Amino acid sequence: MEICKTGAEHIKSLQDGRAVYIDGELVPDVTTHLAFRNSVASAASLYDFQAAPENIERMTFALDGANRRVSRGWQIPRSYAEMVERRRALTAWAERSFGFMGRSPDHLASALVGQRIGLDVFARYNEARAKAFAGYFDYASRSDLFLTYVIINPQADRSKSADQQQDRFLAAAVVDEDNEGITMRGAKMLATGGIMANEVLVTCIQPLGQGEEPYAVSFAVPLNAKGLKVLSRKSYEESAVSVFDNPLASRFDENDAILYFDDVKVPWDRVFINQNTAMCLKQFHATPAHIYQNYQAQIRLMVKMRFLLGIARRIAETNGVINFPQVKEALGNLAAQSTMVDALVHAMEVKGAMRGAYFVPDAHTLYSAQVLTQQLYPEVIKALRELAGGGLIMLPSSVADFADETLRELIGRTQRSPATSSEGRVKFFKLAWDTIGSEFASRHTQYEMFYAGANFVTKGHSFRTFDWDRCTQMIDHMLDGYTLDDELAQCRRAAE
Ligand SMILES: Cc1cc2nc3c(=O)[nH]c(=O)nc-3n(C[C@H](O)[C@H](O)[C@H](O)COP(=O)(O)OP(=O)(O)OC[C@H]3O[C@@H](n4cnc5c(N)ncnc54)[C@H](O)[C@@H]3O)c2cc1C
Repeated sequence: MEICKTGAEHIKSLQDGRAVYIDGELVPDVTTHLAFRNSVASAASLYDFQAAPENIERMTFALDGANRRVSRGWQIPRSYAEMVERRRALTAWAERSFGFMGRSPDHLASALVGQRIGLDVFARYNEARAKAFAGYFDYASRSDLFLTYVIINPQADRSKSADQQQDRFLAAAVVDEDNEGITMRGAKMLATGGIMANEVLVTCIQPLGQGEEPYAVSFAVPLNAKGLKVLSRKSYEESAVSVFDNPLASRFDENDAILYFDDVKVPWDRVFINQNTAMCLKQFHATPAHIYQNYQAQIRLMVKMRFLLGIARRIAETNGVINFPQVKEALGNLAAQSTMVDALVHAMEVKGAMRGAYFVPDAHTLYSAQVLTQQLYPEVIKALRELAGGGLIMLPSSVADFADETLRELIGRTQRSPATSSEGRVKFFKLAWDTIGSEFASRHTQYEMFYAGANFVTKGHSFRTFDWDRCTQMIDHMLDGYTLDDELAQCRRAAE
């Protein structure tokens, strides 16, 4: 047996008969299909990275009850120092995809770590469901599973509740319940990484009201569960001509999919919440789950911002504009924005606190980071576009142009830079386009703006968790320092 999970083992685990559909077809094997295989390999390589002898200590830890070391994503920090140790592992994983794989396995591991810290919240709701969750956490962490989640009901008519939609089973709901478990029917959005994960956590983070109890569930099933259909979006990987032309899309297109539950049976030992709207919200907000999952996301974004800054600097060097004052100003602004993300990650750790035996990042710092970075990402992309100009488009159609000697010679004459060769210029700007403007890049802007909820939602969390008293007390203190009567008395004295 290996010392920890390997890439080969993960790839094998995905050859499990899951029902993934793309371009009108059922995919026989996601690990070899042209739409997914490179991204699946990238995800699997995370396990090889952690298994490498030089990384094993940094990336994995010995978990009680597990027969091998597992990813630090599953580690429940007992102190600030352990949280930092865990963050270093998460950072190293994010660096493997330059921050472009949002649903690397540490995302869901972080969510479940947060829920496990708040097991008391589950126990107060229902002892049997809490036992099921604790048992599942042990199973998932000890097996070093790769999970994704679907926690949003599909868009249709957002002015109506789930039970008021034309089809009551548009959003996944309990259709039946018996001694063995619950049966689910309907859809959920949006399983990022669904094609390459082992299992999916299915629940609802959107507030639900009276009448929406059948939608208020939480459970986990393997991606090959009977009746579960994975409806993939378009694959950017499949249309990426080559690594040279689309260095990111060709390898890090983690995929997003709608999941349809065609009467999927979920046994009780995998049901963590059954038809309880209040508990659905509590699992995220009365436990530190929402904080932990988004803390991981900010660590990943911190890495991605550094990558974007590298792109910005290289654009300026490649086009020979690096010494223009306005360009330095633009780069200085980007550097400050990147450092803000970095600083917020560190601040949420430094301002973190113990919750029982475990250490939890500071909630409000996390929500500040979310609000600000959702707005920041499109701004940064716009700044990169402004720096780059037409260089992102002034490119050979594909790597095949280099194979033709006449065209190669023309590329040599037309693609020039003070900083690199013609080939270097084309190679770099192809990467820049895949970062900034390709369909893959565009999906990333949508991702960073929405993966954690629309901006009005994250602003609501920021409002909820801010220490308003500390601010309003200052105002009260100021107002208490003078009165209208004192002021009038002074006026009267002055008039006498
Ligand atoms: C690339 C990508 C990957 C994703 N991956 C995942 C995933 O892995 N798992 C998962 O569960 N989800 C995932 N999501 C879904 C994500 O969580 C949702 O997109 C997000 O929560 C917003 O919900 P929505 O898309 O339904 O937008 P909506 O809630 O419909 O909001 C869209 C817009 O409508 C307006 N609006 C809607 N409601 C209101 C309101 N009440 N008040 C004011 N304005 C309103 C706002 O302008 C808002 O920005 C992903 C999304 C994207 C784009």
